[in-house]
Amino acid sequence: MRCYCCSSKSFDECCGPFIKGDKHPSSAEQLMRSRFSAYATAHYQYILETYTKEKQQGLSVEDLAQSAQGATWFALKVHPTLAASSVDSLVGNSISSTEDSSIDSTVHADAKVEAVTNAEPISKTNLKSISKPITKPNNAIVEFTAYYFENKSMYQLHETSNFSVEDGKWRYHDGVLHDDCGKIKYGRNLPCVCGSNKKFKQCCATKSR
Ligand SMILES: [Zn+2]
Ligand SMILES: [Zn+2]
Repeated sequence: MRCYCCSSKSFDECCGPFIKGDKHPSSAEQLMRSRFSAYATAHYQYILETYTKEKQQGLSVEDLAQSAQGATWFALKVHPTLAASSVDSLVGNSISSTEDSSIDSTVHADAKVEAVTNAEPISKTNLKSISKPITKPNNAIVEFTAYYFENKSMYQLHETSNFSVEDGKWRYHDGVLHDDCGKIKYGRNLPCVCGSNKKFKQCCATKSR
């Protein structure tokens, strides 16, 4: 069976080991996905433990179970992030530097092309070796939409969440809800929100109770 978080992997190869405590998520997105899967499988202890310490203080497993009662979480969409921004800015710099090449443009252009093609693998290696000790981030943002049924109606929760590393482990801190949260109508003949390529009515709509 495909993982609850709608990845292409099975639950045992995706969120399962995180929820069981066999492995720790190595990114904020993995943690977010595993928290969704924990909601889908009612593992509220895991939800509690994966909050930052500060947020755990006002929460209990009972609170979490109660607030999730009646909701059937059935699909997750993770929105693209700006993870590649460092590479983009490198490319951007090389392009903007061509603006001063009004004299002897052909020679310059060739030199630039060579510089760019040469520079890329070198800068990538540099980024890799440098980024480990210096720029390993302790904070990250993930934007997602989670879908659930409640009283046979469909809802979406669209959130941009803040994650931090505490004691070497990713933790959920808080999030900002977007304006489009709430009850939605989704066409039964449209492709399912879970990304299965099936029609909604033949896929997740059958999980509505
Ligand atoms: Zn998963
Ligand atoms: Zn589906």
